[in-house]
Amino acid sequence: MNTTGWLKGLRVTADGTGVVSHAGVVLVRALADNIGLTAGLSKALASDRLLVHDRGRVLADLACAIADGAEVISDFRVMGDQAELFGLAASVPTVWRALDEIARGGDRALGKITGAVNAARRRAWAQIAARHGALPGIHIAGKRLEGVTCIRLDATVVTCHSGKEGAEPNFKGFGLHPLLGYCDNTSEPLAGMLRPGSAGSNTAADHLTVLDAAIAAVPPGFRRKLMVTADGAGASHALLARLDALAARRGYELTYSVGWVLGERERAALRLVPEQAWQIAIDGRGQIRERRAESACADRHCGHRRCWIEEAHVTELTGLLREGSAGDQLDGWPPKMRIFARRERPHPGAQLTLFEAEDGWRYTLWVTNRPAATKGWLGQPAYIDAAHRVHARVEDAIRTGKDTGIGKYPSTSLAMNKAWQAAALAAATLLAWLRLLALDGTLAKAEPKTLRYRLLHAAAKLTRGGRQRRLHIAASWPWATDILTAWDRISALPQPP
Ligand SMILES: [Zn+2]
Repeated sequence: MNTTGWLKGLRVTADGTGVVSHAGVVLVRALADNIGLTAGLSKALASDRLLVHDRGRVLADLACAIADGAEVISDFRVMGDQAELFGLAASVPTVWRALDEIARGGDRALGKITGAVNAARRRAWAQIAARHGALPGIHIAGKRLEGVTCIRLDATVVTCHSGKEGAEPNFKGFGLHPLLGYCDNTSEPLAGMLRPGSAGSNTAADHLTVLDAAIAAVPPGFRRKLMVTADGAGASHALLARLDALAARRGYELTYSVGWVLGERERAALRLVPEQAWQIAIDGRGQIRERRAESACADRHCGHRRCWIEEAHVTELTGLLREGSAGDQLDGWPPKMRIFARRERPHPGAQLTLFEAEDGWRYTLWVTNRPAATKGWLGQPAYIDAAHRVHARVEDAIRTGKDTGIGKYPSTSLAMNKAWQAAALAAATLLAWLRLLALDGTLAKAEPKTLRYRLLHAAAKLTRGGRQRRLHIAASWPWATDILTAWDRISALPQPP
């Protein structure tokens, strides 16, 4: 067998015409246009000067390029140099200039961009609700919570070298330290703040700013029932006071679930929890978290108690901290705030605190305002724990966000990088809308990398006839039908006003 026979007689030349690479980008670009994002950005960035390239078009195109995988501004040539399909798109220097203008415009310019994205989101979510009957529910331990919009706040460190403005040492290394707000229902970024590396993980003022921006980004019709989660030691007085105030508004419901620091006060309470007060925890599928003991019998599905080790438990500490002999130790915190603890068997080799090492368990604490009288599964400690762990999904969103523009900032200027981040968040948002408005099956759940490989990077032939251009996706491309179906759905979106 000739395993290298395909090479025989093969020549590679650079003289093709009518060929389009990354042809699937038309899906994202048409979506940006048809949902009204491009027009909104164009209005937001309108200038009195006579410009060849409309700045809204440039920013929308940059978002499309980032959605397509562009990591540096020069990658923009994929669109800029394919004028036959994309028309007269901007050159790389023009993209730099557009970002520089936004940077000079400061918070005012960024605010206008946010306004345009949020206006487009109102139309997109209306269409998502029309297509699916509702906004997708929140997955909690094998169940689905419908009718609630979930916002997750989390900070991440983007490593970059010291030449960048704001790149500073932090607990994870050296770089920038954006704080982001994501929507769990749609997996899209709602708000982001690009901060210097030294910004604290729990800086209350930043959390309040991003929380408010994220709520403002949620279309009004989807804001009445909110769930807000924040990680780690997100709990500051200021954040909880704001969440408590938001929850108290008439006609609104807001349930929060925020990480809490394990301090001496909490350790003392944990020592007092009677063993029977620890309830077994459940995993992401709603199964109890247990594993086989080393000395277990041969029947892997046996019912012997001694053959199973429970791996995680949940308990509520509110009573011990509020009504113990020391009086109300949570005095000054919102009265409706309840505190929960989860204990897990540490992984072998995990770094343990002295307390955890002595005790044999690793503890995670969080606070919530979910009322004790909550009926049904959501009121059970195991599900209150699972609802807090939903927060871990923010890490997936940040991970995929990092290959959609927020993993690499192109400029040495912080203001320029803020402008780039605005385009990057718009890119991730467009991909989320693409999934929910135009795709089916596994593609509707696929990560950006998969969408690029299967859809956006598809090649095509462009032909002209009469007054029309026709884009022919290769007939043998495995996802050609998915591209066509998506194109039809995007083309059928109602025109923005
Ligand atoms: Zn057994």
